[in-house]
Amino acid sequence: MNLTGEMLIGQKAVKGSRDPIHAINPATNERLEPGYAGGTQADVENACQLAWEAFDRYRETSLEDRATFLETIADEIEALGDALVERAVAESGLPQARIQGERGRTCGQLRLFAKTVRAGEWLDVRVDPAMPDRQPMPRADLRQRHIALGPVVVFGASNFPLAFSVAGGDTASALAAGCPVIVKAHAAHPGTGELVGRAIQAAVKKCGLPEGVFSLMFGSGREVGTALVSDERIKAAGFTGSRSGGIALWKAAQSRPEPIPFYAEMSSINPVFLLPAALKARGEEMGKAFVGSLNMGAGQFCTNPGLVIAIKGPELDVFIKAAGEAVKESSAQTMLTPGIFEAYENGVKSLQDSGKAQEVARGQKGESPNQCQTGLFKTSAQDFLASHALQDEVFGSTSLVVECADEAELKKVAEHLEGQLTATLQMDDADLDAARKLLPTLERKAGRILVNGWPTGVEVCDAMVHGGPFPATSDSRTTSVGTAAIFRFLRPVCYQDLPEGLLPDAIKNDNPLKLRRLLDGKREK
Ligand code: NAP
Repeated sequence: MNLTGEMLIGQKAVKGSRDPIHAINPATNERLEPGYAGGTQADVENACQLAWEAFDRYRETSLEDRATFLETIADEIEALGDALVERAVAESGLPQARIQGERGRTCGQLRLFAKTVRAGEWLDVRVDPAMPDRQPMPRADLRQRHIALGPVVVFGASNFPLAFSVAGGDTASALAAGCPVIVKAHAAHPGTGELVGRAIQAAVKKCGLPEGVFSLMFGSGREVGTALVSDERIKAAGFTGSRSGGIALWKAAQSRPEPIPFYAEMSSINPVFLLPAALKARGEEMGKAFVGSLNMGAGQFCTNPGLVIAIKGPELDVFIKAAGEAVKESSAQTMLTPGIFEAYENGVKSLQDSGKAQEVARGQKGESPNQCQTGLFKTSAQDFLASHALQDEVFGSTSLVVECADEAELKKVAEHLEGQLTATLQMDDADLDAARKLLPTLERKAGRILVNGWPTGVEVCDAMVHGGPFPATSDSRTTSVGTAAIFRFLRPVCYQDLPEGLLPDAIKNDNPLKLRRLLDGKREK
């Protein structure tokens, strides 16, 4: 498929009229064709109007039709073949195997959402039949189901050009919920965005859905992104990126006459606690495994382990030595964009200049453009507690070890942490008491708690939570990965005393969708 550099607004391909942006191959700094000209306010208006017109019909598509649509998107993405992989590799600098894996995850998550849609549990149907003879007051007939919120804007993430971009988790969960989607493409991989966008556009047509179910726009976040979030027809948004970008767009969403939910995933340093018995038994092994996790994807995972917390002593020295050696052997890796590389360099420099963090080891220097050099630093708990800047995310493969005097200080450091996507415990049986004392703090701080694993690697499944308190996300009640992500784009509606002829299928008396309802307080089998 030839790339045209056009936006996709409904079924049309539209050339933008702002200055074009070009993707840069970060491995070579070569400019990639074609240019992608940004949209105007009129293009935003058009995409929002089409989405609004599609909404009522799309949200009432049958479970089967909607599930088939999600599966058709996955089929269309796979049909793009090697062209998609080649373009994504060129635009992201990520290795081919990683992109192939990410394509599998993207299609897998679309198919998982298809399964979720068919099962219909997300409709959360509750029926409390009328009790006309109840004393002292009769009860009305009350029925609840969930409906889609409305058109959703999705901001593609730079670090997952497939799995968290145009057809990624936010898009899949919003479409599954019955929401039309307008994607604001990430400027780092516009060609990948166009290819995937065309696959979704083809699926909309094949499935006979209204064209406004999907649009893809290019342009700057400040102009196109803010205009989309501010449009009255948009009812929610999903975002992955920087804290500053997330907060700016969240503010735009909250300052509308009608504020809307804005689900931003922003910044997390994913603390790893090394508990004493585990540290004593396997400090060296943990040091090496930790650096493996730190280096994954050049450290550009939202779940990258950017902080290690343990009690100071010879056992921790063994861990630091082993990790330091593994860091020194780490090859430089190409980062996603020149801007992200520059932000990484600045983040490492801030640590170096802080006067509070001591360099343990650096990895090998890169010989090509935009290659990050792995880094390991250490600091005392006292300095960490006194300097909030040491909690700033350094997006890339750099981590900081915090040395605590004792268990009480380790707990103090845990309490001092900002909200996180993950918190990890490395522990043995003898650490159970210490872990039990830490657990309530970790539950308050993080969306996912792991034992004896590493936080990188997020399973897409029913039980996953990829979320957490601010600044990990803007709304700690939700997840952006896994099937529960669908609930971000739904709201409950209660129907009181509606005649059978007016009830939606999901809450009809004879239960034509065969859902497991909560009927008069009892869950149906
Ligand atoms: P970003 O700069 O936040 O950009 C993400 C999206 O938000 C882009 O579409 C961007 O539009 C838009 N945007 C940014 N600032 C905005 C503003 N003030 N108003 C309106 N829209 C705005 O994120 P990025 O490009 O992916 O990476 C930059 C940094 O984000 C990284 O260095 C890293 O620190 C962080 N990051 C964190 C994670 C994580 O999961 N924790 C993931 C990715 C990135 P434009 O097209 O105008 O840029």
